[in-house]
Amino acid sequence: MEKAPEIWLRYNRPMSIHILPDDVASQIAAGEVIERPASVIKELVENALDAGASQIDISLQGSGQPFIEIQDNGRGMSAEELPLAVARHATSKLSTADDLFRIQTLGFRGEALASIGSVSLMTVQSCRKSDQIGAEIKVEGGKVFLPKPKVFNSGTSVQVVNLFYNVPARLKFLKKDATERQNNENFILKYALAYPKVKFTFTQDGQTSLQTSGSGDRREAIAAIYGLEYARSMMDVSHDDADYHVEGFTSPISLTRSNRREMTFFVNGRWVQDPALSAALLQAYHTYLMVGRYPIAFLYLYLPSDEVDVNVHPAKAEVRFRSPDRVFSLLQRAVRKAILMHSPVPEISTNLVWQTPVADTAQEYSQGQSPEILQSDLGVARQPLFAVNPENSGESQISLLRLVGQVGATYLVAEGPDGLYLIDQHAAHERVLFEKYQRSAVGTIPSQILLEPVLVHFNSVQAGLLNSQLGMINQLGFQVEAFGATSYLIRSIPSLFANLSPEAALRVLVEDFEEDENPMQAEAEAKLIARICKRAAIKGGQILSTQEQSQLLYELENCTSPRTCPHGRPTMIHLSVDLLERQFGRRGAR
Ligand code: ADP
Ligand code: MG
Repeated sequence: MEKAPEIWLRYNRPMSIHILPDDVASQIAAGEVIERPASVIKELVENALDAGASQIDISLQGSGQPFIEIQDNGRGMSAEELPLAVARHATSKLSTADDLFRIQTLGFRGEALASIGSVSLMTVQSCRKSDQIGAEIKVEGGKVFLPKPKVFNSGTSVQVVNLFYNVPARLKFLKKDATERQNNENFILKYALAYPKVKFTFTQDGQTSLQTSGSGDRREAIAAIYGLEYARSMMDVSHDDADYHVEGFTSPISLTRSNRREMTFFVNGRWVQDPALSAALLQAYHTYLMVGRYPIAFLYLYLPSDEVDVNVHPAKAEVRFRSPDRVFSLLQRAVRKAILMHSPVPEISTNLVWQTPVADTAQEYSQGQSPEILQSDLGVARQPLFAVNPENSGESQISLLRLVGQVGATYLVAEGPDGLYLIDQHAAHERVLFEKYQRSAVGTIPSQILLEPVLVHFNSVQAGLLNSQLGMINQLGFQVEAFGATSYLIRSIPSLFANLSPEAALRVLVEDFEEDENPMQAEAEAKLIARICKRAAIKGGQILSTQEQSQLLYELENCTSPRTCPHGRPTMIHLSVDLLERQFGRRGAR
């Protein structure tokens, strides 16, 4: 007789349907709301905002897993309210099902405090303005203790100790400390910016790492968080469509990121991640940004509360719009308006196209381009770029590609033994720079000392990342040192990138860490170099003199992998003689 498969046996074991014990049920529910330390911060900050606080102090130890405290000066709770506040489905924010369709507060599910209390040791202290003395309640792994009187200033403080101490599975799934910290900070920065009228203080391991004034000026809050320079360059967005309103900031087309992480949207005061909103923003920048570059934006949408359904997900990070198209076009038009007001459409001027090649060479290249490419290694024996027929291989000193010219200030046209080549000048130059950089061994990369060191400010998240990678950066031909908590001095940069702004070069590197936090060392270096080459390479739309064009072609031919840029996109398109002949009906189709 055949043996039943093991899995079958397991499922056949008699198992009656039963209601889950309370502690199991509440842990399952808690898992939906509280996934990580940042979710605790989110829920508690939202509660403080709902309580009308004008000051919120957030204090964390480590990743927040051992300790989180959030204190506000909001309306507070009475001793009688405390046991209700920590009970599941207890809320002061809605009472009928109808209320769900016009939610004005950030919370409404009455789940957060109960959930946090079921997976940690939580203490809530609170006092209303009208009360003489406050109260305190403790919850340990879901077990609620009786409230006790407690002397406390008006407002509320929630302390969360040893989050997930009783949920080992969840604890295991926490990312490494640095990632959780980044999540926490990210969240705090976003809310501090979204609520400029609230004075936020963020203390990490006893050190104040962020403080906003609560003056109500959002640009000032941006400056406090990201630095003055950054705050100055962001463009205002403000646009109305009847009862829909959007405001905020978006970056000029010269200030971009390599990831979407700094595209932030708030809907009625709530941070939401919605691909449709991102799409609308990108649409507004369409044709203004290079592929793979993203704007930085902080956009705050205000819609009548019955136009948004926020009750889509327990963490409330998703919303549903009643008229998605209207929201989309509001956002897109608002941002487009800001871009058009600040950035004229680039034009190719014809007198530049026709100027004589020799005189302007150095000058043209000096616009974001290393002069090194001009005086390159003419003596080096040339490696043939393409597979050629044997009779050509003796002529290694002769260029295999004959330059025809430049098209649209973006492509080079060249003729080879086997047809026509269209070369993307940006991708080609990226490749050339990349191989030059890689040819110098790490640690011996020629660098150029700046006449004056350049001071660059980062936000605390970026500074943390930069700190961890400083050693590697300094191996790559940079000389960068910390200068205060989140500022850095650049003393030298790789010579190859001498004509790139030192600040831009360093920022490009930091963005790369953000994208991929823990790559292998060698891989990380290659990625960093590729990133910076992309930035330093001549762009499409840049007119090159004939000499520069041939130089680029020549150097591309000398590359080991000339056919793709370091990011894997093609540098050239080949139209073979055969193809041309067929297209012109000289062969085949009779
Ligand atoms: P929700 O925010 O969805 O109502 P919570 O579990 O987060 O659910 O909070 C439960 C209730 O406790 C809230 O409705 C509110 O009345 C009260 N509460 C929570 N935090 C605060 C606070 N910081 N200040 C005043 N009241 C609070
Ligand atoms: Mg809440």
